[in-house]
Amino acid sequence: HLVASLEVEQSYIMIKPDGVQRGLVGEIISRFEKKGFKLTGLKLFQCPQELAEEHYKDLQSKPFFPKLIQYITSGPVVCMAWEGVGVVASARKLIGATNPLQAEPGTIRGDLAVQTGRNVIHGSDSPENGKREIDLWFKEGELCDWTPVQEPWLK
Ligand code: ADP
Ligand code: MG
Repeated sequence: HLVASLEVEQSYIMIKPDGVQRGLVGEIISRFEKKGFKLTGLKLFQCPQELAEEHYKDLQSKPFFPKLIQYITSGPVVCMAWEGVGVVASARKLIGATNPLQAEPGTIRGDLAVQTGRNVIHGSDSPENGKREIDLWFKEGELCDWTPVQEPWLK
């Protein structure tokens, strides 16, 4: 498993088509906001087949790959870039295990999903993949680096 680092990182987080169809977009974004991460990219997007295949290229040889591509392209997804200290591993914790039946209650998949093939959300599995996936899903000019104006908590 991933250990949270002390580095400021970027993670690519995506609400999959079932999450959009089920009206879970607000709930999911809210969990990341409340945790304290910074949203730097956000769009609703119909993913083309080639992009889905590139995103999941490491899983190309898996028997479920064709179904996975069909699932990800079956309707719009919400693409997000989130920034923060240790965000990659922390997001994976917020998301929970790949199989929602094994995901702990309190996690997004543990609370909101049942099937591995309909597990509502993606999160990058390393800081390197975070960068790779954000580059893949967002065009130049679509990301927004911004500075929160208030200290969010006491020193
Ligand atoms: P994660 O999304 O937790 O990082 P993986 O990278 O292993 O999980 O797999 C990517 C996605 O492929 C999963 O989120 C899930 O949607 C799908 N998937 C993984 N394993 C299976 C499986 N055995 N059957 C169907 N779909 C699967
Ligand atoms: Mg993965």
